[in-house]
Amino acid sequence: MARSGATLVEVGTTNRTHLTDYEGAVTDRTRLLLKVHRSNFQVTGFTAEVPAQEIAGVARARGAASLYDLGSGLLVDLSPWGLAGEPTVGEGLVSGVDAVAFSGDKLLGGPQAGILLGTRDAIAACRKDPLARAVRSDKFTLAALEATLVLYRDPERARVEIPVLRMLTEDVAEIRRRGAALQKYVGKDAELTEGESEVGGGSFPGAKLKTWLLAIHPQHLAPNILAEQLRRGQPPIIARIADDRVVLDARTIFPDELETVARAVRAALDA
Ligand SMILES: *Cc1c(COP(=O)(O)O)cnc(C)c1O
Repeated sequence: MARSGATLVEVGTTNRTHLTDYEGAVTDRTRLLLKVHRSNFQVTGFTAEVPAQEIAGVARARGAASLYDLGSGLLVDLSPWGLAGEPTVGEGLVSGVDAVAFSGDKLLGGPQAGILLGTRDAIAACRKDPLARAVRSDKFTLAALEATLVLYRDPERARVEIPVLRMLTEDVAEIRRRGAALQKYVGKDAELTEGESEVGGGSFPGAKLKTWLLAIHPQHLAPNILAEQLRRGQPPIIARIADDRVVLDARTIFPDELETVARAVRAALDA
């Protein structure tokens, strides 16, 4: 934006923004109407916002372009798994904005990348700008992105094979079974308890998913020391501390990692 010389004009207020706020702010110097998804925080209570479709309409009527920054790059609807409120890329596109921007690595589950989809004219204009070369993707990123996107041809396959989607949609009974196996490995210093997972990755703020946690409570080690020993291990294990206990979320430990994690926990406990 700095390079383009554009001036950013805020419209509306923190909690409430209406279509008239956009209409009132547009002048004959307006080139772009931008909507940015809130991604990693919530505004609740007395709130209002304008759908992308209406913003696109104002832009079109006034000869400006429109852009919707979606953030997480969600390609499949996760509401059947209790995760709602995050716009999908498809919803962004059908809103009629000229372009949508989103991340390749958050909920899409691919490599770190910024992705722009839109009308032929909008994409051609972006391509033509010298900045396009500076942010040009390398072959490794493209190969990794392709390998991820290929899985989406079959949404069910994407759901089970893309780690982030698999973790978000896994059956809680399955998580419990894995947690129980982990508890058995680790033994008496650990207890399997019901808990909650947060989504993270700058998406679904406030959403809680039921999960099973391995809570580790050694007599001889303070939680922060144990957590540090886990981080310093080989491989490093990142745990969190809740209610003065070190907890590992079984949702985020895959079957082929169980033994490694169990061994690391025992090593940290016995150190
Ligand atoms: C995460 C995010 C970005 C940046 O995405 P990258 O992962 O850095 O490509 C941009 N806009 C919004 C709204 C985001 O949530």
